[in-house]
This record gives sequence, structure tokens and C-alpha cells, in this order.
Amino acid sequence: MQNLPIVKLKPKEEDRVLKGHPWVYDNEIAEISEEYENGGLFIFKTSEDLCLGVGYLNEQSVITGRLLDVLKKPAETYDNYATIEALLEDKIGKAIKKREKIKNTDAIRYIYSESDSLPGLVLDMYGKTAVIQITTLGMDKLKDTVVKIIEEKLKPKNIYEKSISSSREKEGLEKVEKVIKGSIKPVIIKENGLDFYVDPAGGSKTGFYLDQRDNREKLKAYVEGKDVLDLFCYTGGFAVYALHYGAKSVKLVDSSEQATQMTEKNLEHNNLSEFCVVKSDVFEELKSMNTAGEKYDVIIIDPPPFSRGKTEKKGGLKGYFDLHLKAMRLLNEGGILFTFSCSQNISMAELIQSAKDAARKLHHKVELKSQLFQAKDHPYSTAIPETFYLKGAILKIV
Ligand code: SAH
Repeated sequence: MQNLPIVKLKPKEEDRVLKGHPWVYDNEIAEISEEYENGGLFIFKTSEDLCLGVGYLNEQSVITGRLLDVLKKPAETYDNYATIEALLEDKIGKAIKKREKIKNTDAIRYIYSESDSLPGLVLDMYGKTAVIQITTLGMDKLKDTVVKIIEEKLKPKNIYEKSISSSREKEGLEKVEKVIKGSIKPVIIKENGLDFYVDPAGGSKTGFYLDQRDNREKLKAYVEGKDVLDLFCYTGGFAVYALHYGAKSVKLVDSSEQATQMTEKNLEHNNLSEFCVVKSDVFEELKSMNTAGEKYDVIIIDPPPFSRGKTEKKGGLKGYFDLHLKAMRLLNEGGILFTFSCSQNISMAELIQSAKDAARKLHHKVELKSQLFQAKDHPYSTAIPETFYLKGAILKIV
């Protein structure tokens, strides 16, 4: 790929890209070739006219360039891949191969955007149904080629596009929800021997919280014979595991009608009993559970992101402290808390500190049992901090 238009960076602005972070901000660009199509492919060059790699560019976005392939060191020519088809085929092939070791499930995130050198693209497979999410103009323009390669490599029966991220607005894109191949309806996936209904079209995200897969298994060591509370349960992922691992009872809370209905279906479908699903606001429900004097041995807190931008961080931390405090009041002596944050700007240390502060207010301490992360099919590229978002902790209240 040598006849592409050129984006030339300002002096020294190539450092971050060479360290593995594939973004170029608008203020880092010195020049762009005269003739080009916005959203199209470009060769990115250093200020000294050496090639850095290939990527796409959207003038409308502050993150103007995103590279799909970065050379190991700047060179006279870019000749890693002869065509964009060859590049995409290689990157998608490598992403799929990376997940080969994930067993015991037919629901896998095969492509996780920048972590797989495919910025702007997410692919989740639910059995034979592929759900793609596109968040950038550059990737949108590559969609047909991407879909063709996915069809060849994974042979999905159905392909659904669910591109509804609010970040598309920054790229000048409308939201898109449409069937690309076959049809779309709820499917049943199997994870560690348990069945879950997944509704890609109607559900949150692409239908299921695949990122919590490894963490659901962690319940095994804590729940046998215990009373468990699953807050922000969505379709009951944690609760189904808890009852399967021998929990005495589980109470689940979520404010979404659709999620709680699907939760009941999932619990029943797995032949589980001793559960109580409550459709309610978690904060309201915590208040009434406290008044009623309810007590639990294990509490799971997995809220939606409280805090997105830097300005919302303070409010987000207050939200976590509040939740920790209210939940800990319901814990029995020696109880266990599984607490999570998927807010990018709240760190693991801040999440744990918030729980520690809440425990101190109740004259307790917390013992850290484990730190938890997003599942392996959502790889965290250490060069790209934005690819790390889900953190959690197992804490014993002492
Ligand atoms: N634990 C789930 C994922 C939780 S996602 C799993 O493993 O599958 C967050 C959930 O919080 C969503 O289902 C959403 O409906 C719910 N939610 C958001 N705000 C809420 C509130 N104030 N009270 C109750 N549920 C809420």
C-alpha cells in the first residue's frame, strides 16, 4: 500500500504511536495530502518523511487518525501489507486465533477494537450470530470488507450491526441497527455449562456482559450455602452462577423491565429455584432492605458507568461510596463484597479505597481477597490505557 495519501505529523509527535498507542490527535498533524477522501486510508509519516504505518483519518474528530498497522521503526516505504484486504484479513485472523484457548462457551468477543489493531470495530459471536459494532468513520468505510472476512472465517448464520455508541456522533455518524445477514432474534448461549438467553437487538451492549465471564466463576469459592444479593443484575449472570454453585438463596435487583424478565427466564431455564427478582431502583431497594433488616453473606455490585468525563469523576466516586456504604450495612459479619466499576476514569485503587472508606464509617475494615478484570477476550493493551475499563475487587468485611 504505497499510493495512499499522506498525513505528516509535527516533529516528535510520532513517539506515542511508536510506543503502541495508535491515535493521532488533530493538533499533532502538520500536513495532509491535497487530494483525499475523509475517512479514507492514509500513510502516516514522521516530520522527517519516514513512514510510520497505515491508518484512517477523520478530520471531523479530535482523534483524527487511528492506525491499523504501525511499523516497528520508521522506514522509507510502507510495505507491510500490499492491500487493505490483506491487512484486515491478517488482523482479524490474529484476533480470532488469540481467542482459541477460550473454552466452555460459545459466546466470545472476537475483536476488541484498538486491542486487536482494529480501531473502531467490535465483534461478538453468540453461537452462530455475529454482532458487530462500529464506532468510527474510517472503520465504517471498511465495513463491507470486514463483513466478508468475518463470513469467511467464522461462518455466522446471522450478522447484525448494532452501532449505537454515543461516540459515533463525534465521528459524524448516525446510529445504525440492522440485519446484515439472516435474521435477528434472541439466542441461547452456553457458558460453563449454563444457558443464557441473549437478545442482541433488544438488550444492552451487544446483548450480554461477556466481560464478566471470568468474574462470574470467582463466585464458586464464596457462595455455597450462602444468601446472596445481586445488585444491577441485568439478565442474571452472577445470580445464575451463584445458585449453580450452591447458594442458599439469591435476591436480584435491576430497574429494567426487559432485563428482569430475561433474568427470570434464565434462572428458570437453568432449573434454579430459591431466587427473588425485584424490578426496582437499586438505591431505593437498598433503603427498604435496610429498613426491613435484611442480611446477606455475599453482595455483588455491578453498576453502569457512573462517571464518564473527568468532570463527573467526583460525583462518580461519591456514587460508589454511597453504594458501598448502603450495601455493607446489609452484610453479615465476615461477609463478602464483589464490587465492580466499568467507569474508565475510576481506577482500581479508587474503587477499593471507596469500599475501605465505607467500611471505616461502619467501624469495619476490608480484607482484599482478589482484584478482578475484564475477561480475556477483552484484552488490555498496556500501551493503550483506554482499553482497560472493567475493574473489580473481592473484599471481605472484617
Ligand atoms: N451484572 C450484570 C451487568 C450489569 S449492567 C451482568 O453480569 O450481566 C448494569 C445494569 O444496571 C443494567 O442492567 C441496568 O438496567 C441496571 N441499572 C442501571 N441503573 C440502575 C438503577 N439505578 N437501579 C437498578 N438497576 C439499574
